[in-house]
Amino acid sequence: MDAAKFFSETYAEARMRFIDAARAAGAVSQAYENPCGKGPDGGPLVLDTAWFGPEDASSVLLNTCGTHGAEGYPGSAAQLAWMTNCGPMDLPPDTAVLLVHAVNPYGFAWGLRGTENNVDLNRNFLDHSLPHPENELYEEIHGFLCPKSLDEASIQKMLAAGARFVERHGQWALEDAMSRGQYTHPDGYHYGGLAPEWSNLTMRKIVATGLAHASRIGFVDWHSGPAGDGELIHLCFSDPDSAQFARAAHWWGADALDPKTVNSKWGSKRPTRRGIMFWGLEQQLRSHAQFAGAVIEFRSAQLKATPAKAIRASLLERWLRFEGGFDAPDAPQYLAEIREDYAPHRKSWQINVIRNALECYRTTLAGLGEWNRESLRAAD
Ligand SMILES: [Zn+2]
Repeated sequence: MDAAKFFSETYAEARMRFIDAARAAGAVSQAYENPCGKGPDGGPLVLDTAWFGPEDASSVLLNTCGTHGAEGYPGSAAQLAWMTNCGPMDLPPDTAVLLVHAVNPYGFAWGLRGTENNVDLNRNFLDHSLPHPENELYEEIHGFLCPKSLDEASIQKMLAAGARFVERHGQWALEDAMSRGQYTHPDGYHYGGLAPEWSNLTMRKIVATGLAHASRIGFVDWHSGPAGDGELIHLCFSDPDSAQFARAAHWWGADALDPKTVNSKWGSKRPTRRGIMFWGLEQQLRSHAQFAGAVIEFRSAQLKATPAKAIRASLLERWLRFEGGFDAPDAPQYLAEIREDYAPHRKSWQINVIRNALECYRTTLAGLGEWNRESLRAAD
């Protein structure tokens, strides 16, 4: 199979191919346009959905891509491969699939991780009427991690301050403070926002209407970024002692979900998380449906040999948004660098992404079919 053919060069291309493939495979499709902006080509920013299978199915696989914008390319390719490889023809009884393309269409179109408001959607799914989680060390790192210029002298100054921080608090504390989510600096890293983003509200609407009759939800949210060559990292956010965690482990293997495996594939101990979509949707569906699944990363970036390289994609995104702008002479090169982290053009990576994604669809759908049969037996 030629894996490269499933990968698009732009969001607009990925979107058109998703729509065409969904139509050809007989899906019921919906489009939700984000009113808050346009793509770099002036085109609309749209979240698209495609439903396959019975509309009243008891089990539904909810599969999303582009929650982190630019990470959408491999997820979009995976969805396209599943649709065009007869996936929709082969669903277990009483099972449906709901594909969501470009949860964050702004980020996908512009080649960025965050939304139109610099919000990390996977920090935005919490109750904004309550006090937001604190991130005590963030203030300190914001001071040195947001240089006005990315010239060598500025980077060296930033690294020296970073090294002093690591001496006091340790390496993990730096990664955790930077990425766990913060609700105080809208121009900073992994900002979670003070209100639900358009993408958050749209996802909640889609889930409220589309999954109202479902009793069992399998969830796969495609992401990318950690160093590697298309291998999957299963980040299951269910309580490790819960039946839902055991369910996901049954689908994908206990080893895949083991924290030791996850940390070693991630490259370090996993940071703290708040406000991720997994928990937001799980809670929304709790009254009528069981929810099992994972955020699944396609490893994608080249191994980063230095701290400066490890945070460079985040640094570039912030600089483009708040310092240099998208018309800066360096902008095209910076966007290409970010792209290479989340969606490289390596052939081996593309082959591994498609192969691993199709296997994941197969095991997840088989698992949902089995879950249905168990429920029928239990009801006998
Ligand atoms: Zn991500």
